[in-house]
Amino acid sequence: MAYQTIRGTFDILPDAHSSGGSTIQGAAAWRWVEGVVRDAMARFAFEEIRTPVLEPLELVARGVGGTTDIVQKEMFVVERSKESYVLRPEVTAPVMRAYLEHHLEQRGGAQRLYYIGPCFRAERPQKGRYRQFHQFGTELLGSDDPRADAEVIANLRAIYDAFGITGTRLRLNTLGDAADRPAFRDALRAYFAPHADVLSATSRQRLEANPLRILDTKDERERTLLADAPRITDFIGDDARAHYDALKGLLDGLGVPYVEDPLLVRGLDYYTRTVFELESDALGAQGALAAGGRYDGLAQAVGSKKPVPAVGYAAGIERLFIALAEQEVVLPEAPRPDVFLVCLGDAAEAAGFGLAQTLRRAGLAVDFALGGRSMKAQMKAADRSQAAVAVILGDDELTAGVAQVRDLGASAQRTVPIDQLALALTRDAP
Ligand code: ATP
Ligand code: MG
Repeated sequence: MAYQTIRGTFDILPDAHSSGGSTIQGAAAWRWVEGVVRDAMARFAFEEIRTPVLEPLELVARGVGGTTDIVQKEMFVVERSKESYVLRPEVTAPVMRAYLEHHLEQRGGAQRLYYIGPCFRAERPQKGRYRQFHQFGTELLGSDDPRADAEVIANLRAIYDAFGITGTRLRLNTLGDAADRPAFRDALRAYFAPHADVLSATSRQRLEANPLRILDTKDERERTLLADAPRITDFIGDDARAHYDALKGLLDGLGVPYVEDPLLVRGLDYYTRTVFELESDALGAQGALAAGGRYDGLAQAVGSKKPVPAVGYAAGIERLFIALAEQEVVLPEAPRPDVFLVCLGDAAEAAGFGLAQTLRRAGLAVDFALGGRSMKAQMKAADRSQAAVAVILGDDELTAGVAQVRDLGASAQRTVPIDQLALALTRDAP
């Protein structure tokens, strides 16, 4: 065999196929998923933004954060004449870059943005975890109103509802403000230090660099330690507490269910206040469907002089497909043509070629076999295409100015004048 897709990447084909033990849905299913997302975004007045796949390495290093797994070990870096770029591992830092670069605040009010597109992380590929994967997400920039947080969470909920996904849990926490962090970090260090022998090598490093991330551990022994660890809620200031209470009140008012989880964290200082994650029973060890939160410090971390309060989430489309499969949601298949043209003889072939364009101008999807095949082969191709009708054109028909229209489902056949075909077929089209 010649070349193959790189491990952890996949082709999206017209039909679903199997890749590395997982089903990769066909392009029509992806289009449908994207359409459902776009419709929900439109209802929340989120506007689309598309940023490059290549971004400056520095933006991602600063914007995602030097102590994260993403920056430490998962970046695809591209070197080119002394410049270093990175294939974007996420889209929040790029959207913030675009907001600052184009002064989007000048459009007035908070900016409600959304994106859909590929991201790249050099992880160990497994089910629901790829090296090129796809995210959709929102970024609501320029507001510190708790309703902004509630909007973003309500939007996330609305999207998974639109897909009919049940059995999800929204975990919610607050991280307080940046000023609340040092005291909490010190308390964590003081608590974990006497238990350093229980901690993994990674956690011992985190104890120094970023002790909040220990709260995130999956290690069972470490998790037992967490039960009595200091809680962020005992360290947050009045403003952050009021913001959190307001958000919970809004979610309660909307009937959006959530569970508070004081162990839910983001390791970075510019994540402030709200954090949340949407989990599904369908995913098990493969983590979350979506994750988000408020990042009031990000703008300044990537070079803005002024703070830009902002909140958003990112959701994985491959994980959404796992949840859809688990729930046996029927996905759309590749669209079938309305008409398959069967042409017998040179004159019919020439006329048929023109007729195809005429029918297409009338809005019909038209296919035909290339390469002068026999009647039998062409009828087989028509069946395989699953077109609604075959339009059969031979020399006799041509002379009479008519075509045979065969209903491929019911095998009924009728004669229709060629110049009335477009009208007859568009009227019949479902
Ligand atoms: P995980 O804990 O699963 O590694 P993460 O914390 O790295 O997730 P985020 O950076 O928050 O993930 O990305 C948001 C969402 O993008 C995740 O909830 C997940 O649905 C999806 N996602 C992240 N990494 C991958 C990947 N390598 N392959 C497929 N989807 C991914
Ligand atoms: Mg990850």
